[in-house]
Amino acid sequence: MQRIDHRLPWGCPGTERSLSVFRFGSGERKAYIQASLHADELPGMRVAVELKRRLAELEGQGRLRGIIELVPVANPIGLGQMLQASSQGRFELGSGKNFNRDFVDLADLVAVQLDGRLGGDAEANVRLIRQAMRAALEALPPAGSELQGLQRLLLRHACDADLVLDLHCDFDAVVHLYMIPQQAEAFAELAARLGAGAVLVAEDAGGSSFDEACSLAWLRLARRFPSAAVPLACQAATVELGGMADTERERAEASAESILAYLAGQGLIDGIWPPAPAPSCVPTPFSGAEYAYAPHAGVVSFLQPVGARVAAGDPLFEVIDPLEDRHSIVRASTSGVLYVRERLRFAQPGLWLAKVAGQQPIRQGRLLSD
Ligand SMILES: [Zn+2]
Repeated sequence: MQRIDHRLPWGCPGTERSLSVFRFGSGERKAYIQASLHADELPGMRVAVELKRRLAELEGQGRLRGIIELVPVANPIGLGQMLQASSQGRFELGSGKNFNRDFVDLADLVAVQLDGRLGGDAEANVRLIRQAMRAALEALPPAGSELQGLQRLLLRHACDADLVLDLHCDFDAVVHLYMIPQQAEAFAELAARLGAGAVLVAEDAGGSSFDEACSLAWLRLARRFPSAAVPLACQAATVELGGMADTERERAEASAESILAYLAGQGLIDGIWPPAPAPSCVPTPFSGAEYAYAPHAGVVSFLQPVGARVAAGDPLFEVIDPLEDRHSIVRASTSGVLYVRERLRFAQPGLWLAKVAGQQPIRQGRLLSD
């Protein structure tokens, strides 16, 4: 195992932060796994603890067949953001920016220099494109903020990986995954091993999140150079490991083993692993996910547990104004799986309270909320 520590730019004097990457194995192929980019989403960090321990073991046994890079704390900035005893890990306090938005568009960054250099040899193209991506990230003008410096470092480590997993969680949720539709099949085994309750696919959910910065770049290049052989060489997913409180040891150990077994299936680890179970859900369009809002302020009672299968018209939650006695029941507008519930129990304007993964597209444009 090799530990690589990067110093983040723009540290306040006396409080500089660093990003640590743990590299296991060696070889041509590479997987990159990061945890807790939204710093208060800790199930990923807990799983990374297990992955770190197990990867060191597997490396010692000579069972790694490629490089696996692990970033257990992908967001040291957010991890330090406490506001009156409450963790603020989603948005950078200084700028208000979501840590998982606005990653640089790698396709845009390298397209001009690739013009006329890509041919019919897919492997050669992949090598050339990865080289161009690394060089382009290095050649960017100095980062304008600590956040930008962090995002570039994460992308620099991930951009030449064959497989990228970005470990997050939602508030109160079943395990679910996001990816581009072209890669749903490649991730079906991982979803099954993790017992996912939903797999949500979108070609561009808006917001330039980390997984899309890694995977979508290849799709954009393939379309930009239609006569060249440009494969989707980076398979990337956001893995939501349940809800924010899901940091139990047994669960983390099981999730880590599922991820390792998946990596083994991808040829990155040797040995005999348990067979993958049958799929626990089918992929649905992210545009088919209903975000349910309250019609007015009030205290919220959920009427279904996470993971419930609901039909259109089924009650999801009720909202009660304690002073005026206004009472509303919010019902599902689509049939599917109630895969996330908000943690807050007082309805706020503009904040969703429940999400249902349905089959029929019902939303357009930017699909990600902030
Ligand atoms: Zn997140």
